[in-house]
Amino acid sequence: MKAVILSAFGGPDTLQVQEVDTPRPGPGDVLVRVRAAGICHHDILHRAGKLPGAKTGVVLGHETAGEVIEVGADVITHKVGDAVVIYQRQFCGMCRNCLRGRQDMCRALGLPAVDTVGGYAEYVSVPASMAISVPAGLPWQAAALACCPIGTSLRALRTLANVSPGDSVLITGASGGLGIHQIQIVKALGARSIAVTSSPAKAEHLKALGADEVVVAPDLKFGAEVWRLTGKQGVDVAIDNLGMTLPEVLRTMAQGGIVVVLGNLDGKPVDVSPGLLIGRRIRIAGSGSATLEDIRHALAMLANGQIKPIISATVSFDEASHGHALVDAKAVEGRVVMEGWS
Ligand SMILES: [Zn+2]
Ligand SMILES: [Zn+2]
Repeated sequence: MKAVILSAFGGPDTLQVQEVDTPRPGPGDVLVRVRAAGICHHDILHRAGKLPGAKTGVVLGHETAGEVIEVGADVITHKVGDAVVIYQRQFCGMCRNCLRGRQDMCRALGLPAVDTVGGYAEYVSVPASMAISVPAGLPWQAAALACCPIGTSLRALRTLANVSPGDSVLITGASGGLGIHQIQIVKALGARSIAVTSSPAKAEHLKALGADEVVVAPDLKFGAEVWRLTGKQGVDVAIDNLGMTLPEVLRTMAQGGIVVVLGNLDGKPVDVSPGLLIGRRIRIAGSGSATLEDIRHALAMLANGQIKPIISATVSFDEASHGHALVDAKAVEGRVVMEGWS
């Protein structure tokens, strides 16, 4: 089969299409013909050698949707022809976190594309427990986004922050792959979103997607404007997709508010004022990835139209380098998805 191999750490050209052995499904596995795969910022960091534990010689990709074409021995849950999306990381199903439904905190959790085979390939073989059924009729590209950008956002907004009708929700990095879907989730949950972007050119589109307010802050100083927009009440919930913005986010919080940190873009520590946390009773929670349950909900919301997948470009798998270059150049809003081989 054909696969896109990361030949070395570096620029987009390090992604090379090669002929490799087609995987065989072992007992309990399903063999999936990959139909669509999203290009995540995580893949970009891996390619550039900026992730701890990253390796070369691997197939990237953890936003993978496709069709089951063969089932291994002992698989009773799936059949040939099933449409599935693949859970983004391998989980053991046996540790205490898995047993309480927190596959995102599995103790055996490895790095995508290092401890699992990624989706930038014609076929991938995975344990059947990682292959989540996709509702009938949902396009492959939409299904591919259910795990990473949408499931992760749903977990942060609904499961963790319990966003409810009437809440005000701040979203940093709102035009990125996560933020652009979070705006829609906030709307579906009946709350009011305040989207922060550094790019004036992207503000209109964020409004069109349903953002109630858009703050353009190229210098990432948005606190005063958010304070004004909330009538000096602050926001009930903030999703920080960037990380370096956490101190500014904390200044925008209402009493008793919750900040969910999803991003760590420049990887540097930030200053947090304990006095501010105590005075305003602010909770800070880290999150990442999603549980199987979150992903099922994401798929249902995609299928019933509450969330529209935002895909700015589609390239073939052969053009993975080009797809990565588009993301590198920040030329896209939402996801770049690969589909088909030329
Ligand atoms: Zn991802
Ligand atoms: Zn586990």
